[in-house]
Amino acid sequence: NDANFDVPAHPAQYDWSTHYPDHFPKDPAEQSSQGVVTAASLCEPPEVNFADVGCGFGGLLVKLAPLYPDTLMLGMELRDKVSEYVKERVLALRRENPGQYTNISCLRTNAQKYLVHYFRKGQLTKLFFLFPDPHFKASTHRRRIISTAQLADYAYLLAPGGMLYTITDVAELGAWMREKADAHPLFERLSDEELELDPAACLLASATEEGQKVARNSGQTWSVTLAIAVNIGIS
Ligand code: SAM
Repeated sequence: NDANFDVPAHPAQYDWSTHYPDHFPKDPAEQSSQGVVTAASLCEPPEVNFADVGCGFGGLLVKLAPLYPDTLMLGMELRDKVSEYVKERVLALRRENPGQYTNISCLRTNAQKYLVHYFRKGQLTKLFFLFPDPHFKASTHRRRIISTAQLADYAYLLAPGGMLYTITDVAELGAWMREKADAHPLFERLSDEELELDPAACLLASATEEGQKVARNSGQTWSVTLAIAVNIGIS
């Protein structure tokens, strides 16, 4: 139920320091009252640059964290218990590996409705939709997370050159997502050569719990449709 979680009216209203305390000055008020100026207190506050929409149990974030240690990443998950699990998982990883996994966190929200409440225009450099719910019936296609209207929102939130990643084992949904991305003027598909150079693209099939389940269950016949588009920044 959406009534159970608060949504900021505007991205600037949200306090990210609770998610990534190590990346924010400890106590800016105290520092300035003592006249102490640290590098951290002079800089703009850090921002989330990667978002994993429908992050499930957080496998992708855990794999990405050490690859991009200076990038803040957020998993967005609708299910309360699953989002709590990811938060606990991250806290345990931080305890066991001091100084690591400080750059990943999870937020419970309906990303389909509230993405623009959390990120400003051009803020994101990577946006992931891994194994999204298929919504098989034609009457529920409007709930699919990749649609023409929502691609416009994603293009708004992505920085020029930012990337949008999708993967699914449902052939019909894969064709749908590819078709929507190909038809959208703000996105273009990356070549296989470009994908091979991208460490995140190489993780899509194997990093998440759903990807691992698909691989286990269907062995050789496992089929995945991968569409990656780049926001080419037309203004
Ligand atoms: N990406 C993960 C993976 O690959 O293991 C999870 C895939 S699971 C099939 C889809 C996830 O998306 C579920 O955990 C579901 O709760 C979440 N989800 C569905 N609709 C959502 C929404 N509107 N906002 C946030 N999460 C959503």
